Amino acid sequence: AIFDLVKFSEEITEEMQMVAKQNQNIIYQHTGTTSVVNNDAGLLKNCIINLISNAIKYSGENTFIEFSTEINENNFLITIKDNGIGIPLSEQKQLFEPFFRAHNTGSIPGTGLGLNIVNRYMKLMAGEIEFESAENNGTKFTLIFNL
Ligand code: ATP
Ligand code: MG
Repeated sequence: AIFDLVKFSEEITEEMQMVAKQNQNIIYQHTGTTSVVNNDAGLLKNCIINLISNAIKYSGENTFIEFSTEINENNFLITIKDNGIGIPLSEQKQLFEPFFRAHNTGSIPGTGLGLNIVNRYMKLMAGEIEFESAENNGTKFTLIFNL
């Protein structure tokens, strides 16, 4: 379906801000001339909510989460970046496996299924998912769709 990515993202930001921690600010920004895209809004929303939920859960109070969308001539990108605990380099290759949880999650609850689902949804939408992370230095996920 064709929808307005900025309006859609602003609504998600509002929803997720309500479940964020104390002084955890979700900052949304869009780059690009237009904001209309053709995509599965339901699957995409589920992916973004999963990634923002992780950003909230794996980062502390008094931090900010950057959520951005970018529409270029040939693709559109969605990024979610936090300043949280990060994912240890040695465990990153297992990130999309079902039930995977990194050793530094400590007592933070979770089942390890969220990212496995996001990864499957991205395949269904013919998109790609990339990430960059370092332990104690935050995590950034990028969803990529060719236009
Ligand atoms: P749930 O199934 O409820 O989402 P979960 O959050 O543990 O549980 P995933 O979302 O699949 O599961 O994430 C898998 C693991 O990847 C997490 O347990 C955590 O170790 C690591 N991880 C994911 N996102 C982040 C993040 N933003 N910062 C740090 N670690 C993360
Ligand atoms: Mg999760």
